[in-house]
Amino acid sequence: MTIRTLIWHEHRHEKTNKLVASLYPEGMHGALKNAYKGDKDFAVDHALLDDDAEHGLSQKRLDETDVLVWWGHAAHGDVKDEIVERVAKRVWEGMGLIVLHSGHYSKIFKKLMGTPCSLKWREAGEKERVWIINPNHPIAAGLPEMIEIENEEMYGEPFSIPEPLETVMISHFEGGEVFRSGVTYQRGAGKVFYFRPGHEAYTAYHNPLVLKVIKNATRWAYNPAKPWFGIHPSPNVPHDKAPIPLEVKGPTLHEKGEEGFR
Ligand code: ZN
Repeated sequence: MTIRTLIWHEHRHEKTNKLVASLYPEGMHGALKNAYKGDKDFAVDHALLDDDAEHGLSQKRLDETDVLVWWGHAAHGDVKDEIVERVAKRVWEGMGLIVLHSGHYSKIFKKLMGTPCSLKWREAGEKERVWIINPNHPIAAGLPEMIEIENEEMYGEPFSIPEPLETVMISHFEGGEVFRSGVTYQRGAGKVFYFRPGHEAYTAYHNPLVLKVIKNATRWAYNPAKPWFGIHPSPNVPHDKAPIPLEVKGPTLHEKGEEGFR
């Protein structure tokens, strides 16, 4: 088993902000790659917003991706809607998606959630304690009961997401707020995990426990089944092709063989 993992990164702040460039000299995607270092279960690559006209996310590349990891912040609006649609389709077909930190406002996350995905925030370098409240969950494998991150941006509730399938982690911040910081969803055949830490002005992605969560989540989100292409069309099943063929008993709106309204 090899989990083909693609780290998608906006990669703008490293080029425009000296602090971020100094914290992540290899880019945040470079730091995130360390999560999988030396583990032969993963084949890891990255794609960047400005790679090409498709943000490095051609159909072929997505078709060859098992789990996509997404980090974006300042340039959500620069991601083309057609690419967002393409990524969503792959999730529905079974590709795993891990959305990190400020990706809560990414087009792809908001599309898959269908809610504002808003939250409170504060940039004060305060301590974050990520409490693992579902220690038997595969994403929590090998983790302590709490991950302490010395400096982080605060994200606070209410986080306007749909009720999660599972809440794996809750964060507490030095200033008092709490936040559902590790939540799972199923969208079509695809598994989705949102994980909170990772503000670009701090060093969360150099923290081995944070990286362990991301690797665990990648393994959890991997779907070994063949893509479920049949999730997209809505085929008409005529009465004479029904599993138990039947006579038409009432009036019909559609002509025989019509595709129907889309
Ligand atoms: Zn942030």
